[in-house]
Amino acid sequence: MVRAEHVVKRFGSNVVLKDISLTVNHGEVMCLIGPSGSGKSTFLRCINHLESIDGGRLWVEDELVGYRQRGDKLYELSPAEVSKQRQDIGMVFQRFNLFPHMTVVENIIEAPTRVKGQKKAAATARAMELLDRVGLANKAKAYPGHLSGGQQQRVAIARALAMDPKLMLFDEPTSALDPELVGDVLEVMKQLAESGMTMVVVTHEMGFARDVGDHLVFMDQGVVVEEGDPREVLTNPQRERTRSFLSRVL
Ligand code: ATP
Ligand code: MG
Repeated sequence: MVRAEHVVKRFGSNVVLKDISLTVNHGEVMCLIGPSGSGKSTFLRCINHLESIDGGRLWVEDELVGYRQRGDKLYELSPAEVSKQRQDIGMVFQRFNLFPHMTVVENIIEAPTRVKGQKKAAATARAMELLDRVGLANKAKAYPGHLSGGQQQRVAIARALAMDPKLMLFDEPTSALDPELVGDVLEVMKQLAESGMTMVVVTHEMGFARDVGDHLVFMDQGVVVEEGDPREVLTNPQRERTRSFLSRVL
């Protein structure tokens, strides 16, 4: 589903991703952990071409992300082609970025009606289903400012799902939440994983990584230091850098 081969990303002279090769299979949940500045968000952003890449190749569903290849050369896709690719990829960020002047249901139907041309009634019916799934059917008409952070984040997940993505990317979706609100969001993500969604999740929630993740990747300074079965990596890390990171976060 996602395949990265020798991905390199630079910001000026700062090489932020150094030769990243990773694969996420259909229906798999890959969790990405690592210290601040290690390149986790940058890698996630490369998967939907919010960042261009300076080397290597990245595919989602056998389609090269952001580029077209002719011979050995890559040519960047047009903005319209990039946005078409992004329709298949949902993303949820640390800070819930709902439109504050729209109700919950308006937030959710915005992209399906505008981008996909769905009829308002059909999009609304689907939005209600998704709200029910994230436990917020009674908040359809509320404005984001009247919801807790955890509720807003669940709306953000429902909004991403309304586009029927093939892949969901999460960048520390619970890091900005009060501790008592984290569980509900993780529960929604767990259900999504159980429903078969392919997910890449940057997280500091090691319990989630262990219980829900199929694959755990530890990144440091732009390289994959260690990866494997989450239970294996968490209980029996092979590399000193992994051990020292885990001893600080566990
Ligand atoms: P955190 O855990 O703090 O979110 P991270 O692992 O997600 O960290 P990134 O945000 O991917 O790390 O950043 C990796 C490196 O790339 C950092 O050195 C950061 O300063 C740099 N960087 C990220 N975005 C940009 C940008 N737009 N311009 C320049 N440098 C950037
Ligand atoms: Mg980050």
